[in-house]
Amino acid sequence: MSEQNAAAQASDTRGDMVEALVDGRISFHELPADLSGSEAAEIRRAALEKMTGVRLQDMAHYSMDIETASRRNCENMIGIAQVPVGIAGPLVVRGKHTNGNVFVPLATTEGALVASVNRGCAAIRAAGGAQVFVEDAGMTRAPVFRTESMAQTQEFLAWIRAHEPDIKELAQSTSRHLELLDIKPFAFGTSVWLRFRFSSGDAMGMNMATIAAERVCRKLIVPRTGVECIALSGNYCVDKKPSAINWQEGRGKRLHAEVVLEHEVLRDVLKTNSAALAEVCYRKNLLGSIAAGSMGFNAHFANVVAAFFIATGQDVAHVVGGSLGITNIEARGDDAYMSVFLPDIPLGAVGGGTSLGTQNEALRMLDIIPDPEKPGAAVTRLGEILAGAVLAGELSLMAAFTSNDLARAHQRLARGKPHNPSPGTPFPGTQADPSEA
Ligand code: NAP
Repeated sequence: MSEQNAAAQASDTRGDMVEALVDGRISFHELPADLSGSEAAEIRRAALEKMTGVRLQDMAHYSMDIETASRRNCENMIGIAQVPVGIAGPLVVRGKHTNGNVFVPLATTEGALVASVNRGCAAIRAAGGAQVFVEDAGMTRAPVFRTESMAQTQEFLAWIRAHEPDIKELAQSTSRHLELLDIKPFAFGTSVWLRFRFSSGDAMGMNMATIAAERVCRKLIVPRTGVECIALSGNYCVDKKPSAINWQEGRGKRLHAEVVLEHEVLRDVLKTNSAALAEVCYRKNLLGSIAAGSMGFNAHFANVVAAFFIATGQDVAHVVGGSLGITNIEARGDDAYMSVFLPDIPLGAVGGGTSLGTQNEALRMLDIIPDPEKPGAAVTRLGEILAGAVLAGELSLMAAFTSNDLARAHQRLARGKPHNPSPGTPFPGTQADPSEA
């Protein structure tokens, strides 16, 4: 067959597949398996263009390894959603695995967020750096089981206690990097949850924990006890839902960061003072959150967590956990002490989306490179940097609430319009920092 004929036949076949998709004779996931990821994406796009009348040309531009992404990260792939990435810093971070300057990549479409974090970085730099601390709270998975009676529930729990070493051995056989730390049971009536908690090296660990939990349920617990496992995830884990148990016990990493700001830094960099900062923190983060029944006693953790997660290939749905936590500010005379605490931050330096092109570049820029000799060090460093970045974001926004020139930044940066000053003194409470949700 001549090259021209082969091309014509290929295009006929492609045209047929597009028509079959448009007519609904096949579904998006039913394209031939021997198509490359990029060919399949192109055919799906062409069909969608016909079906919706929208040109999908921007989604078609990418440098990502689509063969890998379409197999591991995203089904029915049609292209890429691009998100601008800005840089904040240098941020000075002082922790176990980070000691010095880092530049923080933030992927966002929210104008002024990066500028706000950048200003916080400047204040932290002037203060000599943020002290940070990361705890490994562990990744959890909690299957739910059904017994016949309360008596059987008690027997089941006793069996689990007696066989913890067997469960641990089987769970850990599923991965070189998984350790079962403990099993926290919760039960009432005929329902039993077993909250398995794992350390997972440098990985976030959700797949690893799920695979291990499935193996111990299917091969050990169910056949030996006769108690049925109703769902591998019984919502006592708790994955991607805000929850009191994650708040109190932590999940993934628990992040801490603190800084002491002398009054010159407050005045010159942040245009504020310690008394005003402490009062905004008390009335907004504490009283306001109590009044609203909020679980996030902070200004905008989720903004920084989301932008950092997108840039570095984390599971973005875990921003739910990233919204939980406390920002604390204490006036120490004219100086201010500030800390942030985030109890529920699932984080990975390997696995998930971390190996994709731009995400991996961002991680390498932060010197996040897992070392088999130092398990968990890379992901701890990632947590340390995120803790410092969240502190920077909180600092800038809290200061913004105390000063009188904030709407300008909102208009200028978020809307791309020059500020048009209006007469009179602006009312601070009405001037949201550009980055607050
Ligand atoms: P994963 O990509 O499934 O697994 C990580 C893999 O990395 C492990 O298989 C591990 O190999 C390997 N690895 C290599 N070097 C490692 C090191 N230094 N430390 C730890 N592991 C290392 O990722 P995951 O972290 O378990 O799960 C994250 C993914 O789960 C994300 O894509 C997320 O979206 C998804 N997720 C899944 C569920 C679920 O229920 N399944 C729920 C929420 C999110 P070995 O096993 O051989 O040790």
